[in-house]
Amino acid sequence: MLDLAFEAPKPKVIAGAKADWELVIGLEVHAQIASKAKLFSGASTEFGAEPNSCVAFVDAAMPGMLPVINEFCVEQAVRTGLGLKAAINLVSAFDRKNYFYPDLPQGYQISQLYAPIVGEGEVIVEMAPGIARRVRIERIHIEQDAGKSIHDLDPAMSFVDLNRTGVALMEIVSRPDIRGPEEAAAYVAKLRQILRYLGTCDGNMQNGNLRADVNVSICRPGDYERYQSTQDFSHLGTRCEIKNMNSMRFIQQAIEFEARRQIAIVEDGGTVVQETRLYDPDRGETRSMRSKEEAHDYRYFPCPDLLPLEIEQDWVDGIAASMPELPDARKARFVADYGVTDYDAGVLTAEVENADYFEAVAKGRDGKQAANWVINELFGRLNREGHAIAESPLSAAQLGGVLDLIGSGEISGKMAKDLFEILWTSGGDPAEVAAARGMKQVTDSGAIEAAVDAVIAANPEQVEKARANPKLAGWFTGQVLKATGGKANPAAVNQIVAKKLGL
Ligand code: ADP
Ligand code: MG
Repeated sequence: MLDLAFEAPKPKVIAGAKADWELVIGLEVHAQIASKAKLFSGASTEFGAEPNSCVAFVDAAMPGMLPVINEFCVEQAVRTGLGLKAAINLVSAFDRKNYFYPDLPQGYQISQLYAPIVGEGEVIVEMAPGIARRVRIERIHIEQDAGKSIHDLDPAMSFVDLNRTGVALMEIVSRPDIRGPEEAAAYVAKLRQILRYLGTCDGNMQNGNLRADVNVSICRPGDYERYQSTQDFSHLGTRCEIKNMNSMRFIQQAIEFEARRQIAIVEDGGTVVQETRLYDPDRGETRSMRSKEEAHDYRYFPCPDLLPLEIEQDWVDGIAASMPELPDARKARFVADYGVTDYDAGVLTAEVENADYFEAVAKGRDGKQAANWVINELFGRLNREGHAIAESPLSAAQLGGVLDLIGSGEISGKMAKDLFEILWTSGGDPAEVAAARGMKQVTDSGAIEAAVDAVIAANPEQVEKARANPKLAGWFTGQVLKATGGKANPAAVNQIVAKKLGL
């Protein structure tokens, strides 16, 4: 496992006009379950499909239609719970959350209020190298998504697209253990990374695949510690909830704005009202959407259409046995097995596809060299050209082939970069392309000796200088490499130069 020191929460302190204030943040993350079919129907979950083309009768709430639970979605939620080291509840149940909205034809959302499928767990967030924070997870429940109302297509009409209606979501609720905007972003990033490793959510925030409701309150120094030791929420301030955030940057900006807004209210002698707010990125401010009192009248009750969800411990054990390696474990293994630095291991494991690519290149090769090439050459190039790794023109096998040619001394580092370039634009087998292009490093010491002799003979003054100051021998190596068109093996040249100069 990773060698991490756990640190007590370091709150972000904001100086108000009258006093210092600390932030308290809890997140409710809605993660779309990666599943081809919806939670209670067989309709497709394809993103960007023709509006209203992925709607089963039950999604459209046609009379007499009954929901049938999608076992795969349940499995994904259990897998997520196990990934967050959480308790799995063998019995859970669905409830109806009643509200009216045009994109919710049922008039209620099926969710799990009283008995969620997943209980308490945790997310370890690395705040700085080697320094970790533990954010407690309160629960994860399964629920349906609503559809989409579209207001900007016509000046006089609104449209409804029910494709998203009934798509399975996991709501992952944290305890209010997050103490600042950066921590909130780091928490979402870590959660997203774990979900993507698990394969239970695609984590595409732009598509709304992962979005967060951000609860923010302020308190005076010492109050949070009082809450921590008693778990009594009365030590904390009243929270406001900022809905539907799907960008890390906006999450941070919204928290910052919201904290300052609340501080101004309290220092002015007012009280913060618990309410739902929306963040407007153009203005950089949050706006009231509805007060919590009205919104809370959801008349929750057990969904009569669905039996309690009972799962078997054996089934859960089977899922536990098929868990993939998670980011922290993989990072630690990269450091141990491939000798890469902690920082590089973090870069290599940030996305599961990147980690897979690196591992395919590094296996059986020099790990540090593989990391250098993957991070600097490959990721650097992909970033500059705006490609995801899945679209990389160079496969892991090809890059591995390039490294093999370096390892065997057939090509120099400089030639390898040229070869990389050619393979990137025109493809091909590394060994064949190198041979066809005449890329072959001269390691034959006879040929190198001749070149060194020629440079020494032509530069008697430099020879004197180098004998007086051996650091200047590098100049000869450079001249020989130039004379041989970069084909001579630099290590071999160095050795022969030193020998001939008598150093
Ligand atoms: P609701 O469903 O009404 O939004 P929950 O009890 O599910 O209420 O809590 C929602 C979120 O609010 C949780 O993530 C919780 O950690 C967070 N939260 C609760 N109290 C506070 C507080 N005082 N400050 C910040 N976040 C809070
Ligand atoms: Mg909420």
